[in-house]
Amino acid sequence: MKALYPGSFDPITLGHLDLIERSSRLFEQVLVAVLQNPGKQPSFSLEQRLAQIRRATSHLSNVEASSFDGLTVEFARRTGTGVILRGLRAMSDFEFELQIAHTNLSLAPEVETLFLATAVPHSFLSSSVVKEVARFGGEVRHLVPSGVAEELARLFNQTYPPR
Ligand code: ADP
Repeated sequence: MKALYPGSFDPITLGHLDLIERSSRLFEQVLVAVLQNPGKQPSFSLEQRLAQIRRATSHLSNVEASSFDGLTVEFARRTGTGVILRGLRAMSDFEFELQIAHTNLSLAPEVETLFLATAVPHSFLSSSVVKEVARFGGEVRHLVPSGVAEELARLFNQTYPPR
């Protein structure tokens, strides 16, 4: 079975990567899909985010990256993916994620949402926290796949590596 892992990935973190690696062992194929959300102004362009994901997952032969706009369930249907993967970090993710999962199920009963619990070392990690640290010149190399820390430093006009 093929799984879809949708998100903003702005940028991809080691938390996302952990979830991708674990799901690549569970599914024949994992499609990481960057959502083009007109309501959100991303820090990294779609092309940059796709390149970051492709570079970070190049060691996983059954993982692909793509982008989409519109409804996630429509994209799941179009690509023949029966499972939407989402990560749960803390209780605070739960309510929102459950609402989306129920809505998606009402729209497409044949597409299941599956939650994977985040690995403990990454449970505090989010793209926005990483950007907050990088904005002020903090060290983020232990939080993002290689190469991404350098791009963050460039984005915020900080020196790399941090002093
Ligand atoms: P979105 O805007 O769709 O929430 P994100 O890129 O923030 O996009 O997250 C995409 C998915 O990855 C979500 O299911 C989120 O819960 C999960 N995720 C985010 N951070 C982590 C992490 N540190 N560990 C595991 N999963 C995560």
